[in-house]
Amino acid sequence: MKKYNTLVIGSGASGLAAAVRLDALGVKDVAIYTEGLGMGTSINTGSDKQTYYKLGMYGKEGDSPVMMARDLSAGGSMHGDIALVEAAMSPLGFHHLVTLGVPFPHDPLGQYIGYKTDHDPKRRATSCGPYTSRDMCVALIKEVKRRNISVMEKRIAVKLLTDDGKVRVCGAIFINRETGEMECVQAENIVFAVGGPGGLYKTSVYPAVHTGAIGLGIEAGAKGCNLAESQFGLASIKFRWNVSGSYMQVLPRFISTDAEGNDAKEFLREYFDTTEDMLNVVFLKGYQWPFAAGHVPGSSLIDIFTYIETEQRHRRVFLDYRTDPEGLDFSKLNAETKEYLERSGILCDTPLKRLEILNSPAIELYRRNGIDLATEMLEIAVCAQHNNGGLAGNIWWESINLKHLFPVGEVNGTHGVTRPGGSALNSGQAGAFRASEYIASKYQADTMDAAAFAAIAEREMAVLQLLQQQPANCDWRAERAEFQQRMSESGSFIRSADKVTEALDGAHKQWQRLYTDGLGGLAPEDLTEALRNRQLCLAHVFYLECILMQIDYIGSRGGSLVLAPDGKEIYEKLSDPFWRMKEENTPYRRMMMLCGFGGNGYPEIYWDVCRDVPDPDGWFETVWSDYRSKKIYDDEAKA
Ligand SMILES: Cc1cc2nc3c(=O)[nH]c(=O)nc-3n(C[C@H](O)[C@H](O)[C@H](O)COP(=O)(O)OP(=O)(O)OC[C@H]3O[C@@H](n4cnc5c(N)ncnc54)[C@H](O)[C@@H]3O)c2cc1C
Repeated sequence: MKKYNTLVIGSGASGLAAAVRLDALGVKDVAIYTEGLGMGTSINTGSDKQTYYKLGMYGKEGDSPVMMARDLSAGGSMHGDIALVEAAMSPLGFHHLVTLGVPFPHDPLGQYIGYKTDHDPKRRATSCGPYTSRDMCVALIKEVKRRNISVMEKRIAVKLLTDDGKVRVCGAIFINRETGEMECVQAENIVFAVGGPGGLYKTSVYPAVHTGAIGLGIEAGAKGCNLAESQFGLASIKFRWNVSGSYMQVLPRFISTDAEGNDAKEFLREYFDTTEDMLNVVFLKGYQWPFAAGHVPGSSLIDIFTYIETEQRHRRVFLDYRTDPEGLDFSKLNAETKEYLERSGILCDTPLKRLEILNSPAIELYRRNGIDLATEMLEIAVCAQHNNGGLAGNIWWESINLKHLFPVGEVNGTHGVTRPGGSALNSGQAGAFRASEYIASKYQADTMDAAAFAAIAEREMAVLQLLQQQPANCDWRAERAEFQQRMSESGSFIRSADKVTEALDGAHKQWQRLYTDGLGGLAPEDLTEALRNRQLCLAHVFYLECILMQIDYIGSRGGSLVLAPDGKEIYEKLSDPFWRMKEENTPYRRMMMLCGFGGNGYPEIYWDVCRDVPDPDGWFETVWSDYRSKKIYDDEAKA
């Protein structure tokens, strides 16, 4: 057993930032427990230009925390005060990264230039290139090492420990995946930075190494919010990468083949009257990468047509950069597309040549990962990419019902229905700063004695030991494949009540099976993965329950389209009655969907009204006084 004041679980961009910030604020009794510094989404992912969203700080265009908060929460189902905190913290988190050496670009006058991203009316987005989140991790890891913060790798959390009343967390149990050894860690506070639910989906652009662990929080009793709100988009599947931005703007051919790679055809053509209509929408897809119900009809039709090929016709879909779409005539494209191609100097033949001029690292990236766009096609699908929901936190990122647990980063569901591109990375830094400040100011004292903790830990360890004495009947690989398949089939961007109801039947059965199966006789890695399956499986039950609720009450919005036989036709060339969409019930934009265990031990879902973006009109003297007296951390201010 070990004991720390604050245990940080996870070493992505948010967990690392929290550890650094805690240390800077004087909380020295901190350790990071993680699968590994090279694991997780932040250090293993990116896109053609990976975006970081921040407060505008360039030229004469005005910006303010309230303006940014309104844009962060404009999609609905986001608390306005949390949006304001994310906006207010944005310059701090951003400059912290800059001072640690993250190479965000600025001009000769020291202004951090920005560009417009999706759902962004200003030019708040910035980027270091394809690897922004990796650059952040590299800089933060260097700082963690410089500060001598203790890092324990190859530790997989398998249980969060709570007091008997489930009022607070007090520690966690980890397994070492190489040795199978279990370790109990007592902690006054846990910064829970385990990332998004990547391990829930088969068709996914989360890095293959990343599974996430939100199920541990749910299992411990922490409430979730907006779990049904996720983001999906086109991505390559052999090497997982978003094919956004320039990958679309250079107008590749969209090809589908049969399962063996024969019978190649440009499948988008059946849905458009002219080549130009088709290419204008492909171009738009570059700017509007994630699937959005609001872009149907519009650029998100491309995701639907891809889905029809892969999921309904069981064909494979590829992007081909080697030759031009037949009949391409630049002069016939619409003004927006033509002007972009002209101004970028890419009115030349072949998508590959255009990509070479526009963004040659985008070609190099695939080459480094064994795919040569000059000689082969790139296989793609519509993949799960981000969860806007997660565990529910207050304005200090502490769980709304489980004290001393601070979910930060993607596992905290601060975002609403939509979010400006890049705000996930901003939110991770904002959450890390807030949680650290609260812990440093309020939670440095020990409030649980060692004997009380030992009793809790021993009881939970005894349960695990008992399970290890019973034979393991389930094969973790088959079990994982089962729930991943179920989520990609029913919980992805095309949803229907029938499918999810049927999926839930299987999900509940699998949950019962995995939680009653033994863990005996398993090698360390198999034991680790079998334990991981339990929390992932539990999470997928909660996600599907929330998705069903979303289908019933809300309809199509954000990253998902709900099918309904009596719904609205979505596009004239999709005459199959299957493609009728249930329209959005817009009053639900004012509501947050919360979930947790009900008294009967099953998921229970309820609603909370969104708090508005505050309109602060503070007075320096009173704010200063409240700050000095620590009144700002009081319960009534915690929301
Ligand atoms: C392809 C792609 C492109 C993206 N592009 C953008 C973008 O342009 N802008 C943007 O803002 N966001 C983007 N995102 C989202 C963003 O990258 C993530 O939300 C963010 O990196 C998550 O950071 P995190 O610190 O929360 O989690 P992660 O970086 O995933 O870190 C989680 C950590 O927890 C550890 N962990 C997990 N489970 C356990 C366990 N049981 N025990 C111990 N450790 C555990 C992991 O090993 C890892 O260290 C993108 C995501 C993807 C997949």
